[in-house]
Amino acid sequence: MTIPLVDLVSQMREIADDLAPDLERVLSTAAFIGGPDVARFEEEYAQFVGVEHCVSLANGTDAVELALRAVDVAAGEVIVPANTFIATAEAVVRAGGTPVLVDVDDDTFLIDPERVAAAVGPRTRAVVPVHLYGQLAPVEQVVEALDGTTVAVVEDGAQSQGASRAGRASGAWGAVGATSFYPGKNLGAAGDAGAVTTDDPDLARTVRLLGAHGSERKYDHEILGFNSRLDTVQAVVLRHKLRRLAQWNKARRRAAERYLDLLADVERVRLPVVASGNEHVWHLFVVRVDDRDAVLARLHETGVGAGVHYPVPVHLTGAFASLGHTRGDFPVAEAMASSVLSLPIHPHLDDADQDRVVQALRDAVAR
Ligand SMILES: *Cc1c(COP(=O)(O)O)cnc(C)c1O
Repeated sequence: MTIPLVDLVSQMREIADDLAPDLERVLSTAAFIGGPDVARFEEEYAQFVGVEHCVSLANGTDAVELALRAVDVAAGEVIVPANTFIATAEAVVRAGGTPVLVDVDDDTFLIDPERVAAAVGPRTRAVVPVHLYGQLAPVEQVVEALDGTTVAVVEDGAQSQGASRAGRASGAWGAVGATSFYPGKNLGAAGDAGAVTTDDPDLARTVRLLGAHGSERKYDHEILGFNSRLDTVQAVVLRHKLRRLAQWNKARRRAAERYLDLLADVERVRLPVVASGNEHVWHLFVVRVDDRDAVLARLHETGVGAGVHYPVPVHLTGAFASLGHTRGDFPVAEAMASSVLSLPIHPHLDDADQDRVVQALRDAVAR
């Protein structure tokens, strides 16, 4: 694609000079697991989020799973939005729970607190609000809906590093926040990576044990754990990118505001809505159009790397057929799946390319 959906090459180019000596140090000393770079990254990311603890892990799916294990959802139910990346629901099953899907708000695409309240039952152990596309779900309303229960809130902040709501960051709202540093996320590693954030020292310790074979000291395995470590190489890359994240998110915000402005008069394009109180970091810029697949094909023909997040809602995937849902169960998520279209957005998108995307979209929906 001439205009890609994301541009990781420009990110790497921007950090290349700073990164080279650190990378060389890690490679030449062969210190690949743990060490001061990992510890530093954890401190810096905790500070960035505004929490006491960050535990780095191998990827974001592990982060959601281990966060859910730490609050203990085994044999219980976990409420999850019907339109999210499949990993959110996978993590619930891997943690021993059953996903209970709820539909989302038609304007913001975020979990609907009233539907959460209606879905809470005696077996509910946790709710996972997903901060989809770069803005926070209405977490305080979810917390309110859970008032008087022991149900834990575990944030899925994989798409929202640096986003905030009422001044409080993604990852600082729930009992635990899980996030992913998959390369294409707002803060992305040079491979797989993830983390959880929390103010609770016990939950932080449990996640750390779970990710390190259940052990704090070598060969002392207190609980049954897993191997989910952040590589030192990834910590080094993440530290250099974290320093630039606020500025990169600002560039995304500028691009998003430009799209909103340039597309405001296009009737056939439904623009994304920022929920009140939110500082959006535009992981994705998602519009809705009729006849989406035809529009997408026309954009691809003209070299515009638009995408679809996501073409199939969780309940209609083969993986979750066992939940027993049918088409019609989550009308908003289903309508989204057939109409959403992600336009190229990233910190290095220049105005000329963006103008071309806008023109291509105008042409594509006019046909
Ligand atoms: C990317 C993502 C994940 C999973 O992260 P990985 O690092 O790819 O395992 C989980 N939830 C959401 C919403 C995501 O976008």
